[in-house]
Amino acid sequence: MVTRMGESTDSDLIASITPDVMESLRRSQYFEKLDSLLCPDEGSGSPPKQCSGDYKFSEHILRGVGYDSEALQDIFEVLRSRGGCCDCEVLYNVAETSRLKANYWRSSQSESPVFSMSAIAMLRQLHQGDSASDGPPHDDCGLESRR
Ligand SMILES: [Zn+2]
Repeated sequence: MVTRMGESTDSDLIASITPDVMESLRRSQYFEKLDSLLCPDEGSGSPPKQCSGDYKFSEHILRGVGYDSEALQDIFEVLRSRGGCCDCEVLYNVAETSRLKANYWRSSQSESPVFSMSAIAMLRQLHQGDSASDGPPHDDCGLESRR
């Protein structure tokens, strides 16, 4: 993760670039590509990737479609401001639709008439799986560390 020097961004700036960034991300099919990594189509044969609590897969995808480091910084600021603090949270909180999100709602509906687990609890569980073995847990969004 690259650390930003100083405090050149504020929420106004992020808000002002958000519509353009989101439009640009939609056009580059970033959400679809990320979804295909974390939640591959049945039939595609590839195993789902585990979110490691950062933007590893996002960065890979975005660099692949031609964004440079500066653009990535802006994109991640926007994603974070919308509650997408890592690859899987982008799909849950920022993407309008994703298989990952759809699967979650579908499975909770079939198992019980009442949602027993919130999306947040589900995210925590998802992360505990891999944070136990390697890497730090990431319940912090990095918003506070950016003061
Ligand atoms: Zn995650």
